[in-house]
Amino acid sequence: MRLNMGSWFAAAKRECPICGRDGSQAGNVAAVPIPIKHPAPRQALASLCGLCRQAIPWIVHPICRVCGRAETCEDCLRRANRSYAVSRCAVRYTDTMRDWLALYKYRGNEGVEIILAAMLAFAFERLHHAAPGASFPIITSVPLAPERLKERGFNQAERLGLRLAEWYGIAYRPLLHRLRHTEKQSLKTRRSRVVDMKGNFAAAHPGSFSGNIVLLDDVYTTGSTLDECARVLRQATEPDAPCRIYGLLWARS
Ligand SMILES: [Zn+2]
Ligand SMILES: [Zn+2]
Repeated sequence: MRLNMGSWFAAAKRECPICGRDGSQAGNVAAVPIPIKHPAPRQALASLCGLCRQAIPWIVHPICRVCGRAETCEDCLRRANRSYAVSRCAVRYTDTMRDWLALYKYRGNEGVEIILAAMLAFAFERLHHAAPGASFPIITSVPLAPERLKERGFNQAERLGLRLAEWYGIAYRPLLHRLRHTEKQSLKTRRSRVVDMKGNFAAAHPGSFSGNIVLLDDVYTTGSTLDECARVLRQATEPDAPCRIYGLLWARS
């Protein structure tokens, strides 16, 4: 029998998909549990080096029962008429998470994409705890403005949604359009953001869907985008078909 030394070395020296370090060397991998049940995202996260695995700020104990944030939440208290039922976020939006998202958004790296999708799997499994007994037959995502889509070449939320849909055996459907391009969110005050979200989105196929919908986005800041998308989706469902919208976010800022 001939030993294939190339593949032996590749297996022994595992490159971390985020930092490129030798995953078998960096950090104590065994000390960091992966809080997910599904084997595919578990396997994806197991390919991280110990240091990157340790850097993931999982929101294991949500305090806000609405948005799943790890602290008391002024935004949720303030918003009286919410269009989504509840939402769950996988991680806190730390500087490291900001870097990981930038790495993915600007390079479109598939290895990074699988890691981010695997992290979302944690929030998806948490959604089942937040809404016991609810079924989630459809997943969709917050669309990008056409200009932004052209610039980047892909919608990160859609790509992550497609992976989750495949892992959990649910249908991914693009149900929303983005109508206007809004100026950079970070430059605006909270109030102007809430007002500006109105009229930004439209349903792609009104009346063609019913049942619960999981609505995915990458980062939750004030929840205005999520809420407006949920409002549009609910208006577009058949009036007598009960439909609830559940938010699924990668990170909570
Ligand atoms: Zn790493
Ligand atoms: Zn909240």
